[in-house]
Amino acid sequence: MKRITKKILVTGGAGFVGSHLCERLLKEGNEVICLDNYYTGSKRNIIHLLNHPYFELIRHDITSPYFIEVDEIYNLACPASPVHYQFNPIKTVKTSVMGSVNMLGLAKRIHAKILQASTSEVYGDPDIHPQPESYWGNVNPIGRRSCYDEGKRCAETLFMDYYYQNKVRVKIVRIFNTYGPKMHPNDGRVVSNFIMQALRNEDITIYGDGSQTRSFQYVDDLIEGMIKMMATPDDVTGPINIGNPNEFTILQLAHEVIRLTGSKSKLIHKPLPADDPTQRQPDITRAKNILNWQPTIQLEDGLIKTINYFKTHV
Ligand code: NAD
Ligand code: UDP
Repeated sequence: MKRITKKILVTGGAGFVGSHLCERLLKEGNEVICLDNYYTGSKRNIIHLLNHPYFELIRHDITSPYFIEVDEIYNLACPASPVHYQFNPIKTVKTSVMGSVNMLGLAKRIHAKILQASTSEVYGDPDIHPQPESYWGNVNPIGRRSCYDEGKRCAETLFMDYYYQNKVRVKIVRIFNTYGPKMHPNDGRVVSNFIMQALRNEDITIYGDGSQTRSFQYVDDLIEGMIKMMATPDDVTGPINIGNPNEFTILQLAHEVIRLTGSKSKLIHKPLPADDPTQRQPDITRAKNILNWQPTIQLEDGLIKTINYFKTHV
């Protein structure tokens, strides 16, 4: 039997990224406690882990305190798709802010290391390109995306203040658009939308003229970066960008999905949502230097894996 290395809490562990993280941490011989309120996540994502002797599943909402003894906490609980985080914006802010206070309070009490899944959204609609961590961002504080963007910004503030004031060992990663198997097929994000539309030969919905850009990272690369970040010495707090610098327009993504699926779908245009960032690309110099990390999976390969998942699971 493998030696248990660490006891690790993953909040949001039944979500897209969280379920991949739980799987990987278990593979490394750790004991994993997955905590989720199933707001956007699903038991289906982790059902194959339920019989694992070192996996535990807890239904809990992080806006209420929770007590457990662990060595490390990965704080991922928060809806990530604009459709979901805008559905109940007050709850989104509460999850980021009150949830972070609760998890940081726990980390302080039990002397655990804690990693925050922050986001490229802290840069808002950036006027510096690509975005380095030193850039403070261009964020609308009162728009439809603000519940997520400002919630995540306040969470970063809380993480740093627990570090300065209480010496909690914190780690912040700023995650750029990530895709892969186990994304919710209806969660409204662009990769899942385009793949589902293409597989059904339905119209592909381009918001605006499709010239806005994103840099898409395959989920396995992200998990590797998060685990490397957690393993850094205590004086490394971040924030550190974790993303794939290869930037694509949304139109390019649509054509790539059509090509790889062999779909008959046509492109149609819909209005661009308010405050939709026009460009986004991570500067990953810090991740390369500090974590010795860079993405290894390029868009075509990642899309093929994701398309195969959607073909067989949806
Ligand atoms: P997801 O929606 O699939 O997962 C989020 C999980 O958190 C879900 O399982 C959901 O049920 C759970 N959750 C939400 N509110 C909760 C609460 N109050 N208490 C307990 N659980 C709660 O999203 P994801 O793509 O897996 O994102 C995971 C994390 O990574 C999020 O914090 C997100 O902000 C961050 N992130 C993701 C991306 C991306 O492209 N996927 C980019 C930047 C940041
Ligand atoms: N988008 C699109 N069609 C869709 C879904 C999204 O054109 O069906 C666009 C959206 O307007 C944005 C980009 O794709 O410019 C990425 O959207 P997503 O919701 O995936 O992530 P985010 O905007 O948070 O980066």
